This record gives sequence, C-alpha cells and structure tokens, in this order.
Amino acid sequence: MRVHVLLVVAMSATLAFGQEQDFSKVELKVTHVAGTVYMLEATGAGNIAASVGDDGIVIVDDQYAPLAEKIRAALKSVSDKPVRFVINTHWHGDHTGGNLPFSTTSTIIAQENVRRRLQTGGAAGNGASVHFDAPASPKDALPIITFEHDVSVHLNGEDVRALHFPHGHTDGDSIIFFPKSGVVHMGDDFVTYGFPFIDIESGGSARGMIAAIENVLPKLPPDVKVIPGHGPVSNLDDVRRFVTMLKETNAAVEAALKQGKSLDQMKQAKVLDRWKKWSGDFISTDAFLETLYNDQTGHKGDFIKHN
Ligand SMILES: [Zn+2]
Repeated sequence: MRVHVLLVVAMSATLAFGQEQDFSKVELKVTHVAGTVYMLEATGAGNIAASVGDDGIVIVDDQYAPLAEKIRAALKSVSDKPVRFVINTHWHGDHTGGNLPFSTTSTIIAQENVRRRLQTGGAAGNGASVHFDAPASPKDALPIITFEHDVSVHLNGEDVRALHFPHGHTDGDSIIFFPKSGVVHMGDDFVTYGFPFIDIESGGSARGMIAAIENVLPKLPPDVKVIPGHGPVSNLDDVRRFVTMLKETNAAVEAALKQGKSLDQMKQAKVLDRWKKWSGDFISTDAFLETLYNDQTGHKGDFIKHN
C-alpha cells in the first residue's frame, strides 16, 4: 500500500504539468460516489467528478488531453448523454489538460484567474525547491465562461455550485458542491498524498488554504463524500485531520519566525519533525517547511532547479 501511494505521489510530481508519460498505459477507474456523482481516477492525474443524469453530464476537471478518449469511454459506461459542461477547479495541467479536446463539445467554466493563468502560462512552485513552468494554453483550451466568486450549473436536479476561495492551493481555486448528492470536490485544496503542494508562485497560500477549508467544513453534511484533488474518496474526519495538520505546522513555523530563525535554521532544528509522517516524495518535510516559510514571509526564495 505504502509503495503504491509513494509511486502515485512521485508521478504527480513529475506529471503535474503534463511532462513525458506514456498515457496509453494509464487506466481510468470509475466509481459511483453518491447520488448523481461519479469519480474518475487515473494515476498521476487530478480526480474528475461527474454529475450524470437525464440532462447530460457536467464534469469537474479533465486530467490530460491524451486521456480525453478514455474519459469519454469511461463516462459512456455509465451514460450515453453528452458532457455539456466542464468546470476547472484550478489552472494546473493535471486538472485542465483535457480542456482542448473537450472544448469542441462542452462549455468550459472556471474562475477568472484560471483563464488568466492558462492564457499566459507561467511559473508554479513553492518559491524554493519545487518548481514547474507551464506554457501558455491554446485559445480553444481556455474557459469561455468565467466567474469572480461563484457560479451554479443546474443539471440533473443538482445545483452544482463552484465557489471561489482566494489564495489556497493557487489564486484561482474553486471548491465544487453537489448538494443533492451530498458530495464535494475540493480540488487541490484537499489532497491525500501527505503535505500538500501549495503553489505560492501562482498566488497560493497555506493560510488561505486553511481559511478555505474552515469556511467549507460547516457547509457540509456530516456524511458528505469528499473527492480530493488527488487520492481516494474521503470523509469529513479526513479533511479535519488535514486542516489540523496545516494549522499546527503553520503555527510551528510562525513561532520559529518569532524566535528569529532563518529557513535554514528551521530545517536544522527540524521544526516540522512532529508531522513527518505527512512527508511524501512530492512534498517532503523540508519542501513543506519552505512553503510555510515563504507564505508567511512573502519571500519566494531563490530558484533551485528541482529534478
Ligand atoms: Zn494543482
């Protein structure tokens, strides 16, 4: 189990922006989550949520362009209806890479910062050892409907609502609610691979991620099914454990800053040692420490080429 988890995480790291990978070998798994909602999972790609019913299909995120035919085939196995809408949770390529192939038949919707970042391309990273560069997306891959704060898509008796939270995983994150089915897709504001990647270079913030999750928690029913950006379907307790870790680690770095410690001194003092079980191949304890430090100091650090 552990080996499998590490492998997935390592692949997410290299795949976050669609670098080389043989997509022909990737298998797509479809699971019924609850009500109208299904989840589509593929190794190294962001999770897709699909609300399926008589009115058609709305999907949340679309993984990578080379997987589009597999996504369509997987959806065909549960419904003949067309994918009418795609909602992007944020701009990263492992969540928006399928926009181009889906744009021919579906309307793509996202928060306005998603469109802006896809349009220009740019840097993503924690301001230190984790860094990616994404090229500008072709015009047809851009969302054609954008919103500032929230938007709803009314399909299948479901009021699918995308709600924007500024400065979490990125500055364009939306969390997507399926209230009738009791399901939420958290995008990468909640992941299960350990310490999360927080894209400081795209306006992300650990404190913003905490605020987003704390805002969302009271909106959710106790038995809600939580679709993480990456990882298996989770529950409220999983999200609570995650946000508790974020708050505790954030406070530990804040305290070390008050003591006047530099980033190197914090690494040497192992200020996040208590939480090291969250360390993964993608985001190690040191990489997460850099993230929290850069978030709190507004310092992006020196660019260190990673991998
Ligand atoms: Zn992401």
